[in-house]
This record gives sequence, C-alpha cells and structure tokens, in this order.
Amino acid sequence: MTLDEVEVTRMILNRFYREFSSSLETDVVIVGGGPSALVAARHLAKGGIRTVVFERKLSPGGGMWGGGMNFPVIVVQEEGREELIEVGVDVSDEGGGYYTADSVEAASKLIAAAVSAGARIFNAMTVEDVVIREGRIDGVVINWSAVDVAGLHVDPVMVRSKYVIDGTGHDCEVVRVVERKVGNLNTPSGKVEGESSMWSELAEKLTVENTIEVYPHLYVTGMACNAVMGAPRMGPIFGGMLLSGRRVAEMILEREGA
Ligand SMILES: Cc1cc2nc3c(=O)[nH]c(=O)nc-3n(C[C@H](O)[C@H](O)[C@H](O)COP(=O)(O)OP(=O)(O)OC[C@H]3O[C@@H](n4cnc5c(N)ncnc54)[C@H](O)[C@@H]3O)c2cc1C
Repeated sequence: MTLDEVEVTRMILNRFYREFSSSLETDVVIVGGGPSALVAARHLAKGGIRTVVFERKLSPGGGMWGGGMNFPVIVVQEEGREELIEVGVDVSDEGGGYYTADSVEAASKLIAAAVSAGARIFNAMTVEDVVIREGRIDGVVINWSAVDVAGLHVDPVMVRSKYVIDGTGHDCEVVRVVERKVGNLNTPSGKVEGESSMWSELAEKLTVENTIEVYPHLYVTGMACNAVMGAPRMGPIFGGMLLSGRRVAEMILEREGA
C-alpha cells in the first residue's frame, strides 16, 4: 500500500461527514462534556437513546482534569464512587466515607466509556443558541469554537433533538439563552437564581435534587443545576456531578420508556 495524502484527507472528510450527518437529528443533545455530561451520555446511550455531546474545547472532561487546584486528585463519597468503579477507575478508600481517584484517569475513562456505550462526542464545537418550537426546546444551534474565538462572521448550523441537557457548568449557558429570549424557567423566580457560596455537603445533595427539567425538554446536570437553582458551590468534590449525570439520564430514560 502506498500512502496518498489526498486519500488521508478524503478519509477524514468522509468519516466526519457520515458521523455528523447521522447526528443531525437525535434524541438527546448534551451541551458540554464535563463529568456530569459524560456520565449522562453513557447511561443514555446504554439505554438505547441516541446521544450527541457538543464540547467547546478540544478535550472533553470539563473541570475534572485539574482535580483541586491542579493537584490531579478528585474526592468522591460513597454514593459517587460507583460511577467511577463502573468505568474501571481505581478508587482508593481514604476512610471516613472519603474516596480518592486520579483525576486524569477518571476524566479519560469517563470519556472512553461514554463513547464505547455509543454516545457521539463532537469536540471543538460550541452551542450558541437553541431552537424552540411550540413552547419547547427542539434542538441547538452550533458553530466551530474556532469561529467563535476568532470572532468571525460565520453563520451557525442547527441540530434537532428531542431533549437538550445543559451540562455547561457554572455558566449554565444554554439556560441563560432561554432565560434571555423566553424567560419562564421552572425555577422559583422564573429566572436563573445564580450560584451561592461554598457549602460542600449541602451543595452535593442539592446538585442531584436540582437536576430538573428547567424548561420543556431542557434539562440541567452538574454544576449548572446549582447555578440555575440558587444553590451553593461545593469545591473539588465530584460525587454530586456524577450522580446528577446519572439522575438526568434516568429521568429521560423513564420518560422515553427505555
Ligand atoms: C472557576 C471554577 C470554579 C469552580 N468551582 C467549583 C465549585 O465551586 N464546586 C465544584 O464542585 N467544582 C468547581 N469547579 C470544578 C469543576 O469544574 C466542577 O465541579 C465540575 O467539573 C463541574 O462538572 P460539570 O459536569 O458541571 O461540568 P464542567 O466540568 O464545568 O464542564 C462544562 C463543560 O462544558 C463546556 N461548555 C461550556 N459552555 C459550552 C457551550 N456553549 N457549548 C459547548 N460546550 C460548552 C466546557 O468547555 C466544559 O468542558 C470549578 C471550576 C472552575 C473552572
């Protein structure tokens, strides 16, 4: 076999076209590829739900890679560790109900497990808007992150999905768009309540409780839940993120009878 550079280019284009084209109409779009999103993607895909993740950066994994203050270690509690063990992460029992894991191992295995389960992850793509039809979310509007960063005047394209999950972390970017354009969120004030100061124990619980359908067919997961519902942040404890990802997947799987 002789290597032909043009064939290499053709392979890349053809495969990308195949995969992108088959993702244009899907069951669930997850915005952001942080830990909660990756757990949700894995459970949804395992349950037979067509799931597409759009991640702004080159690497999915969100804030997990850096552990706490860039010490590459994460802490989880009893309830959260199952999600790590299920994807083959080596979890150490530190006593007193605390468990630690290597943040690089955890992030990479969560990504690999989501892809192996059948979720499709498109990196370097940013969701900048949503499609709304008859009072419910009907998809997202995306563009290359590079276009966004360069400030180029390039129109985005649309992807249709039955459900959208906002997994964009503190910024809850998708919910913010809906708040700005429509309002009427399923929150106490009908708006984004905004995140409050650190309180790990309470925040961990509330992240799961606040995993809600915030607008018809728009769900939140991970840190975005507490930002939307006015709950505290929690520091580098990741159990709540993982459990929120599982929770949002369960909600959609149940709704779809899957
Ligand atoms: C400034 C800062 C403060 C933090 N504070 C806390 C804290 O108080 N408590 C805590 O537990 N952890 C904190 N973390 C750590 C960690 O980021 C989070 O806990 C955890 O990673 C949140 O997980 P997540 O699943 O919600 O999503 P994140 O890890 O936040 O990942 C969100 C992902 O979404 C992507 N994204 C965002 N917008 C878009 C878009 N429009 N389109 C496509 N992709 C998008 C981002 O690139 C990112 O990869 C903090 C991190 C930072 C950077």
